[in-house]
This record gives sequence, C-alpha cells and structure tokens, in this order.
Amino acid sequence: TKWVYSFGAGHNEGRADMRNLLGGKGANLAEMASIGLPVPPGFTITTEVCTYYYDHGQSYPPELRDSVNEALARVEAAVGAKFGDHHKPLLVSVRSGARVSMPGMMDTVLNLGLNDATVDGLAAASGDARFAWDSYRRFIQMFGSVVLGVDHHRFEEIIEHVKMDKGVDEDTQLVAQDWHRVVDGYKEMVAEVTGKPFPQDPHAQLWAAIGAVFGSWMNPRANTYRRLHDIPAQWGTAVNVQAMVFGNMGNDCATGVCFTRDPSTGENFFYGEYLVNAQGEDVVAGIRTPQPMAEARAKPGEKSMETVMPKAYAELIEVRAKLEKHYRDMQDIEFTVQQNKLYMLQTRNGKRTAAASLKIAVDMAREGLIDRTEAVKRVDPKALDQLLHPTLDPKAPRKALAKGLPASPGAACGVIVFSADEAEVRAAKGEAVILVRIETSPEDIHGMHAAKGILTTRGGMTSHAAVVARGMGRPCVAGAGTINVDYAQQTLSAGGKRLTAGDTITLDGATGEVFAGTVAMIEPQLSGDFATLMEWADGVRKMKVRANAETPLDAETARKFGAEGIGLCRTEHMFFDPERIGAVRQMIMAETEGGRRDALARLLPFQRKDFLELFNIMAGLPVTIRLLDPPLHEFLPHKESEIEEVAESLGADVALMKRRVADLSEANPMLGHRGCRLGVTYPEIYEMQVRAIFEAAVMVGKETGKAPVPEIMIPLVMTKRELEITRAQVDKVAQEVFAESGYHIVYQVGTMIELPRAALTADTIAESADFFSFGTNDLTQTVFGLSRDDAGKFLPFYVEKGILPKDPFVSIDVDGVGALVEIAAQKGRKTKPDLKLGICGEHGGDPASIHFCGSVGLDYVSCSPYRVPVARLAAAQAAL
Ligand code: PEP
Ligand code: MG
Repeated sequence: TKWVYSFGAGHNEGRADMRNLLGGKGANLAEMASIGLPVPPGFTITTEVCTYYYDHGQSYPPELRDSVNEALARVEAAVGAKFGDHHKPLLVSVRSGARVSMPGMMDTVLNLGLNDATVDGLAAASGDARFAWDSYRRFIQMFGSVVLGVDHHRFEEIIEHVKMDKGVDEDTQLVAQDWHRVVDGYKEMVAEVTGKPFPQDPHAQLWAAIGAVFGSWMNPRANTYRRLHDIPAQWGTAVNVQAMVFGNMGNDCATGVCFTRDPSTGENFFYGEYLVNAQGEDVVAGIRTPQPMAEARAKPGEKSMETVMPKAYAELIEVRAKLEKHYRDMQDIEFTVQQNKLYMLQTRNGKRTAAASLKIAVDMAREGLIDRTEAVKRVDPKALDQLLHPTLDPKAPRKALAKGLPASPGAACGVIVFSADEAEVRAAKGEAVILVRIETSPEDIHGMHAAKGILTTRGGMTSHAAVVARGMGRPCVAGAGTINVDYAQQTLSAGGKRLTAGDTITLDGATGEVFAGTVAMIEPQLSGDFATLMEWADGVRKMKVRANAETPLDAETARKFGAEGIGLCRTEHMFFDPERIGAVRQMIMAETEGGRRDALARLLPFQRKDFLELFNIMAGLPVTIRLLDPPLHEFLPHKESEIEEVAESLGADVALMKRRVADLSEANPMLGHRGCRLGVTYPEIYEMQVRAIFEAAVMVGKETGKAPVPEIMIPLVMTKRELEITRAQVDKVAQEVFAESGYHIVYQVGTMIELPRAALTADTIAESADFFSFGTNDLTQTVFGLSRDDAGKFLPFYVEKGILPKDPFVSIDVDGVGALVEIAAQKGRKTKPDLKLGICGEHGGDPASIHFCGSVGLDYVSCSPYRVPVARLAAAQAAL
C-alpha cells in the first residue's frame, strides 16, 4: 500500500479525483500543483492511514515512517532547507483534510520544526529576529493547545504579562527580545502543565502533530459535525504536511481567504479578505480587521489588495480564472504572499448561499463554463427552499438596533438565547430562537442547527458562524461589533438598549441589521435566474409537477410556482369553514338518509362554489378532487361545552348529541369508518360532492368554452369492488348533470393507492381505475404499522440511533413502501399500459423521494405549493 503522496516541485502523485484517499485539501493541492499553480511542496498521508490507525489500536503501518522520511527529504531538496537544520531549517505546516470539508472541525499546526536552535537559523535566514521569535511562540502556542491540550488562555496570560511589564498595548509593539521572553514563559508553563519539557526534536514534533490530527477525527465536535452532515466515521481524515511560506515576514507579505465569486449573491466578482503581514489564523481569528481584495469593494479607509500589492493581486486574478476554468465551479481559496511572491495553499468548491448557487449555475452555463444540464444538476433542490423563504417587509416600520455583516441571507425572528444548549432545549419545545454569541465555534453547531437565526458580535464573512450558517441555510448576522454581549448577565446591549434572554429580536441576514422585537416579513420575489433555471429544468424533466391545494390562495400560489395542475384537493378541508361546519355536523348527526340529504343540500352550493373557483384558477389544467376521506367524528365537537353549543345551534337534544358522538368514536379511527367506506355506506355524501364537481365544471365549460377535465379520486380503496361501487355512483350523477344541463364533461375516475392490499392487487383494481395516485402518507402508516399522528414521539429516537435511516414520513422508505409502489405501478400498467400514475403523499415534495418516483416511472408528483419549484428541479435531476 502507498501511504504517502507527494505534491509540488514537479512531483505530483495525487489528483483532484483522489479525494477519498487524499482528502479534499490534499487532492486539490496536488491538482493545483499539476496545473502549474504555485503550491509550496509537501505530502499527504492518506485517509487509509487514519483507518489503519483506528483499526490497530492507534498505531501506524510499519512502513509509514520510511515513506514520510522519503517524502520529507524530497521537500527539503525542493526548498533547499533541512528539517531541524540550525542554519537553514525547513518549517512545515501540518493540517487535517477529510474527504469533505469540515470547517474548523480539526486542527492545524503551523511553523513546525522550530526549536531553541532552529529559531536562530530562521532569524538569520530571514534577517528578522522578531519574526523568528514571533513564529516560534506561535508554534508553541498552536502545538501546545492542539497537540498537548494546554488551555489557550494560559498562553494569552503570558503575552498580557509581558506587554504589561513593558507598558505597551499592542502585540506590534513587542520586539524580538520580548517575544523571546514570551517563548521562555510558554516553555516554562507548558512544562509545568504537561510535566514534560516542550519537545525540541522536530521529528518528535511532526509525529506528535500527525497523531493529534488523526486523534482529532474522533473528537466530540467532529463526531457531532459528522452526525449532522451524514459523514461516516470510516472515511477518516488525511494529514497534509507542507513547506511553510510566511505571510508575516513584513509588509511585502500577506495572507488571505477568497472566493472566485461572491458566495452570498453569486455575483461574478473576486470576493475575499486579506491581511498584510499576517499568518493564516490571523484572518480567521478576527483580531485585526481583514481588508477587501478588490478596490471596487473597498470602503473609505480600507486598503484593497489591488492597490497595496498590485503585482501579487494581478497574479491572483490569473489564478482565479485558471481555477474556475479548470474546476468549472466557484472556488474557495487560501493564499499567502511571501515577499511579493504568491503561493496557493488551498482550493475547494466554495460553499455558497442558495441564491448564489442558483446565480453561479446559471451564469456559468451562460459563460460556457458548464452546459445547461450541468447547471440543472448543480443546484440542490433543497437549497431552493431557502430562496422561497420570507424576507423583511421593506414597508414595515423599524429601527435597527445594530448592524453587522450580512453573513447568510433570509430574515429570522425569535427569542434570544445565549448558548447552543439553551437553543437546542428551547427549540425542542417548539420555540423560535435566535442564537446570540460573541463568536461561534464548532462546539456550537447543534445550537446553530436548532436556531432560526444566528447573531455574532465578532468575526467576518469567513468566520465560523458565517460559513456554517450559510451551509445550513440559517439567516446570520456576523460581527455586529456595537452589540455588547454579557453571558453572565444573559443580556445584550446596543445603542442604549438592553435586551435579556427570552426577549424577541429579528435579524436580516441580507443586510446585517438587527432589530429589537418583531418586524413584519414578506414572501420572496423570485429572480430572473430562478425562472431561467426552472425553464432549463422543465426542459429535461419527464415527470409533471402538480400541487396539493384546495383553497383559491393555494391554487394561485401553486400556479405562480409553476404547478401543472392539482394532484390532490382534499375536500374535507373545505368543510371546516365556520359557515359550513354547522351543515356538516347536521349531516353527521342525522340518523337517517333523509336527514343526511337535507344537510347535504345545504352544503352543495358551498362545494360547487369551491370547485368553480379552483377550475377557474387552474384554467384547463387537470384537477384531481378527492372525495371525503377522514373519519366523520373529526368534524364533531368533543368537549362537553362544545357539544352543548352545537346541540343548541342545531336545535338538537344534548343527550342525543352526546350519544351520537359516542357512537361515532372509534378505537382506531385511521383504520376505521373513513375513505371510500363512507361513500359505500352513505352514498349520498359522495353524490353531493360529485354533483357539485360536475355542476361547477359545466358552469365553467358553458362560460369559457373550455371545460375542465375533473379527475375524481376515491380514497382508501382496499378492493376493486369498493371502487366499482363508488365509480358507478360517480357515473350516475355525472349522467344526471349532463342530462339536466345539456352539456357534456370529459372526466376520469381513479383511486388512491394507500393501503398495502390495494398495492398488491393493483392489477385488478386498475380494471376500474383511470389513474392511480399513491397516498404514501397512509401507505407508510399502514406498511410500517406506525401511526402518522403519534410516531413523532419516538421516531426521532429511531433516526438518531440509526435504527431508521430517515423519518419515513419525510423521505420515502424505498425498501418497503417503495417496493409496494413499484409493484402497484407494474401491476397497474400490466392491466392498463397507459394508466396514469402519480403520488400525492408528502413525499411528492421531497427530492430523494421524487428521484425514486422517477425511477419507477410515475407520470407526476404532487406536493404543497411552496415545494413545487423544489419538485420541478428534483424531477429534472431525476431524469438526468
Ligand atoms: C396520503 O395518505 O398520502 C394522502 C395524500 O392522503 P392524506 O394525507 O389526506 O391521508
Ligand atoms: Mg391518505
């Protein structure tokens, strides 16, 4: 086995597509070096070593040491310096790098190879003693905290002490001797804390750092991150050892983090931050304020890299173009300038907001970097959801309490919490919370996940909070420096105002503004890019997308989002209106057919009006109307006082009412007198509904000349006979209405497949059906024997423990429920090759489930109106 892969200085053993073995960072360092970009030489210890390490009681393959030494010798030769050499010492960085990026999850050690002797060599070689001693103290600090586990406060105390002694405030006022004193203090303190002197042997340092990186793969925050992002522990991390370049050797040096396009908006603009005379961690740590890359983005007082280091900047602009052309995607890069010479330290596909991912995909297709199909593939359908999220109403009165950086778009409102744990606890109780932190760290991710929005008072656009929030799609305002957070008092104050934990605040992640209290929000406006991508998606998808809608508002929203019809109109939702519930209750209370018919006659005009509106809005698109489905007692009052009220309003006897409620109650209502069982036993109910449908259809047909094609859907069918009986009723009423009106309507009658028996006998059922629509909510309930209404109490536990991979009510269970869907689809089509097949359970809006639907040949999916765009994109991806 090859455990170590070299890169740089003309010897590149890795490639970008070897990320599983080399991790993302290592694979891309090799790739960058091989396309001629300036990468300091180094080597990658593979993820297989990590796996080996954990499989063998935390020990290494025996050959590893020799391979590392060999690779190290190559770096020494390339750089012209030797590891541990007193005159010209090679210094290296040691960094983790997993298959997918896990920001801030694992640690980095820089300047490794420094000791009491090599520090003088570095001073002589660089001609800068201050730099050398500062580097040495940085090394002890990083190595001490990352590898030896010394609390970082202990280091800060020592620097503070030296500064105080000297009577200065700023690190920059310390000279070489001062840093020497800091180093002495550090070494003494480390020896005291660890009981051992600080390691002086560079090889011992290197192996300890390698061990720490592998060890960090299993630390609790890495475990949490992996759990949240579905990253298997078996993947392991690689370790990258690379010759150091210095961004902190003087004013002709710098370090920076950039994106080849704006990661918030997607604009084709070189976006990023850099710091003169600084090392990588200074940019992230937020001690000094990073400056913008491009002059066009510089605010008054800021010094762009474009003006300060024009030569290195120009080189970087070339690198940017080369990287985008090579990777055909927006890159997130890290660079260092050492004495005006540019070095690339990292590239990877940049994390971006939903808006940016959309814009970048569309722009890149237009620029010819990718084709349209690729653009359609690039955008995560779930990310589209974010674009459909509300923003603050521009007309709503408000006054910002403070302003930070617009780190992740979207507006959020909730109660203030100051810790990740608190966020999790309160969110679990159903509260909307805003997590407020001075800054966030990987330890906070569970709370960030639980929060509706995140606010930090420190850190930039590339800070942990900003990067993680964007990835999670949480609105985030970062670095709102005028806000003062007091964890002990549980308060935040700004502009003379003071808020306490539990008070409500609103964030606008698009502007960076923070408001006390609640600010009105509005629905999003969709950009032209959105429409373009949707059009491209529509061009490739095979499945149609319909909406589940019953109100005119839902139907209008659905059309606005591009729904191609209604796939499920749940008629019972129309019965709860205060105007109608009386008639509904009267019908249920009736103990005779005559009594029921009287009540139904009252309901008929309402239903007819409902359908009239729907048909008009859907203007000729198919509308699937499901006849009454839920158990009747859902419409009845249950509390004593309610029963009395209803009895009075209906002029009925209270005792009689109570008896009827008791009669109708069922032990298992979901398996009880519902669905077509109602239609079979009380045919007059379906008769009324069907009459309302056809009368409305005739009215629209006569008025517009364009009659709708109603699709009448029978719920909860378990046998063909049920469908035959209800279908005959539909046909009979249809003929009556046609005869009365002298107008004919084309229609279809189909069934839901939502019981296992229906799925298994679908060939027979298909004989009486024009279409099937899979009701995967009930099908999941009945296949698993899991109550839809109660399983929420324990399902999360099952998912957390990995007993079920996902909540089967959210994403279809391909092996069980999916198998039945597939059987039913095949059997149905065996009977009727052109049988129309669709899905209308919640899964119809879930990208993974939509993918499955495509694979079994469904004709359409139907989902809630807001998920229609998600479904259109997911359906397109399913077709690719
Ligand atoms: C279903 O069961 O999947 C379905 C769409 O019907 P409902 O959710 O109304 O039971
Ligand atoms: Mg159902």
